[in-house]
Amino acid sequence: MHDVTAPTLDGSPQETNERTLDPQTPHDWDALRALGHRMVDDMLEYLERVRERPVWQHVPDDTRTHFSQPIPREPQGAASAYEEFRQHILPYPLGNIHPRFWSWVCGTGSPGAMLAEMLAAGMNSNVHGGDHAAVYVEQQVLGWLKDALGYPAEATGILVTGGTMANFVGLLVARNAKADWDVKTEGISQAARPLIVYTSREAHTSVAKVMEGLGLGSNNLRRIDVDRHFRIKIDSLRAAIAVDRDLDNIPICVVGNAGTVNTGAIDDLDALATLCHDEGLWFHVDGSFGATAAISSTLRPLLRGIERADSLAFDLHKWMFMPYDVGCILIRWPGQHHRAFDYTASYLESLERGVAGGPMQFSRYGLDLSRGFRALKVWFALKEHGLATFQALVEQDVAHARYLEWLIRSTPSLELLAPVSLNIVCFRFRGILRDERTLNDVNKEIVLRLQEAGIAAPSSTVIDGKIAIRVAHTNHRSQHEDFRCLVREVVRIGTEESQSLEASRLSLTPEA
Ligand SMILES: *Cc1c(COP(=O)(O)O)cnc(C)c1O
Repeated sequence: MHDVTAPTLDGSPQETNERTLDPQTPHDWDALRALGHRMVDDMLEYLERVRERPVWQHVPDDTRTHFSQPIPREPQGAASAYEEFRQHILPYPLGNIHPRFWSWVCGTGSPGAMLAEMLAAGMNSNVHGGDHAAVYVEQQVLGWLKDALGYPAEATGILVTGGTMANFVGLLVARNAKADWDVKTEGISQAARPLIVYTSREAHTSVAKVMEGLGLGSNNLRRIDVDRHFRIKIDSLRAAIAVDRDLDNIPICVVGNAGTVNTGAIDDLDALATLCHDEGLWFHVDGSFGATAAISSTLRPLLRGIERADSLAFDLHKWMFMPYDVGCILIRWPGQHHRAFDYTASYLESLERGVAGGPMQFSRYGLDLSRGFRALKVWFALKEHGLATFQALVEQDVAHARYLEWLIRSTPSLELLAPVSLNIVCFRFRGILRDERTLNDVNKEIVLRLQEAGIAAPSSTVIDGKIAIRVAHTNHRSQHEDFRCLVREVVRIGTEESQSLEASRLSLTPEA
């Protein structure tokens, strides 16, 4: 059926055997339809039974070598590609959809939003602008998010890939707004003195990465000390700004943390907003996961001041449970936001009518020109479940974190390593061990063994030099029993590890 003669490239007409990626006959369409139905069934069952599988397993050698095959030159067909997916891809996930996955800060996605992703892919909308429904959907979603977080309605915003990109857009607008020359056209090299940004030493690495990407330089990110709750010390911040002003450096921005990645700490955002106001600095908040807490009226007081931010970056693929990838940046000052990204190009001008009309050109509010229909999964999941469900889930996760804290406090062999501010719990096995090096080795081993056995996937971090087992809970599938399982297994593995250490010590100790 597929004629392999080359199409003519010299413009001579050849109307037979024109190619397309669509199925060729009604029969081919039926075959793809049947396969599609099977995929939907398989994926829904995969999600329904996620709890029965190990959290994670190592990618075996034959699967790894499978991915070194060269580009397929001839068609093998969708059914065959799907079989390979089932055999070599589906069984080896990162694990983040599992109820006992709490590594880094990962999201779980949801079955309904998965289906919405399929709808978005089918429409294949390019949401740069234009007169089509997807633009209105994204505008509506942005409006809902401002409302849900208590952020001013007049702010502009855009959906982006994630927190890193949201921080990038926020700091780019901050840089352009606060530099006293036209950075956008003249470039950062015109700076007479370095532009300085301040954040706490607990800030996410993406902030430094953004400083580098914007040409501001990570050395010009001042990492201010934190208090014992891991919140930025406002006095130290004020002092650091004064030092820079004395040096004739140019302070431009403070990045507040609404949920630090290590411990979930929330800076005193209200105090930071006031300080920024007094000092004439831009106030950006990195709320990648923590900002979501503002959707809950019970938790919102923890974030007081977030509504005063000049820009607010947050993720929807973390604590809003949306499938990867989707984050958001909101900017309080529409003019500054637009000025930072606006451009002229005759082939991209909007027209009053036709396809190029429409209410909003998102490409003038961010770096991307072509953009996918990320808004649909957010829109769909919010319609499907309602904001109240998301509020309840966020509160449930915080309650789970408190429950885990309580389990740890009531287990003598365990030790809490940081206050539980929100949804992150850092602890370690202690048992009878006293030596810090040994404790670090044992706790690292506990995390690895938990992951390798597929039992649970916390990650590890270092708190004041101590290796911590870190549970970051942005999972709508976890239940109380999952945390009991975690504690039981940490104690079991920790005891085994200490005993085997003890045994090897004894065998090394010369007979007295
Ligand atoms: C995850 C995270 C980021 C980065 O967000 P991505 O979506 O991974 O790019 C930034 N800041 C904090 C506090 C985070 O937790």
